Amino acid sequence: MKLQFGRFDLTLTRTWRIASGLSGAGTNTYGVVLVELSDAQARSGVGEAASTTRYAQPVEVIEAFLREVDASRLSFDDIAGSMKYLDTVAAGNDAAKCGINIALLDGATKAAKVPIYDHFKLGFTEGKHVTSFSIGIDTPDVIREKVREAGHYPVLKLKVGSPDDRANFTALREAAPTKPVRVDANEAWTTKEEALRNIEWLHAHGNIQFIEQPMPATSSRADMAWLKERSPLLLFADESYHHASDIEVAAECFHGVNVKLVKTGGISGAYEALQTARQRGLKTMIGCMIETSVLISAAAHLAELTDHLDIDGNILINNDPYVGCTAENGIISFATAPEKFGLRVKAR
Ligand SMILES: [Mg+2]
Repeated sequence: MKLQFGRFDLTLTRTWRIASGLSGAGTNTYGVVLVELSDAQARSGVGEAASTTRYAQPVEVIEAFLREVDASRLSFDDIAGSMKYLDTVAAGNDAAKCGINIALLDGATKAAKVPIYDHFKLGFTEGKHVTSFSIGIDTPDVIREKVREAGHYPVLKLKVGSPDDRANFTALREAAPTKPVRVDANEAWTTKEEALRNIEWLHAHGNIQFIEQPMPATSSRADMAWLKERSPLLLFADESYHHASDIEVAAECFHGVNVKLVKTGGISGAYEALQTARQRGLKTMIGCMIETSVLISAAAHLAELTDHLDIDGNILINNDPYVGCTAENGIISFATAPEKFGLRVKAR
């Protein structure tokens, strides 16, 4: 097996800011690592590792891990064994492991002539799966403009956690008075009382689907459970739910989970994290980072295991090097995907 990888800088159409990066000016480029695996039988697959500052996995860390990987230990015929080997290279590093996991599944399922969603016996129903469109933290004027531009997306996700949250939400409502909105606090509200006050205010202003990660993942379980008990809106764990093994905290403190492939170490881990959450009666969604159509399509293959999708990372950029599933009017579709099997993506 041969492993190749390289950095690719995605350029954002609009400056991107969330609660954890409020001190900076926001970001206009975002680094990812594209991964390719190929073997002697001419099988090949592509993958992607999106970088994340929140989980201390910038491009440099991802590349350093990938350089340590002995590609002869990876096999399209043994994905579980290959992932076990990666865990012996180093713990953590889920973004880098995600890149390899996607490439392994792409290669294996292309060779088997099935799409990844059929490999997992999930199928994919066209016309059913809708992604939200994310609005980052900004000034009320820019928020109003962004919300108008996003008029064709049926669901919005507003990032909060700045001193201007209420003015920003009011601006959103001026541009989209009744549209369903989900709100992502990215751990911004530091006490349970502050979180509850903000959630009650948002609830009073109508048509909010749910709140993502109101408090820091390091908050006490007792505080998060206190909030769950009183919150008038459903709470989804993002920073508090990485792997299926985090299910106890999620079940006690949240109503649902936001699964991301860079947190689970790829599609295999995400399948497990979603199934585990569903078995515990939690709502599920898949989220994303700023990423190309490789990671977005990888997430879309698991759509049948979710109640909600937030896979708009490739819509926020203007130099996507891949074509895969589409998101016309927010509806995720493989109808025009350039490949019939595997991940169903192709380089532009
Ligand atoms: Mg989130």
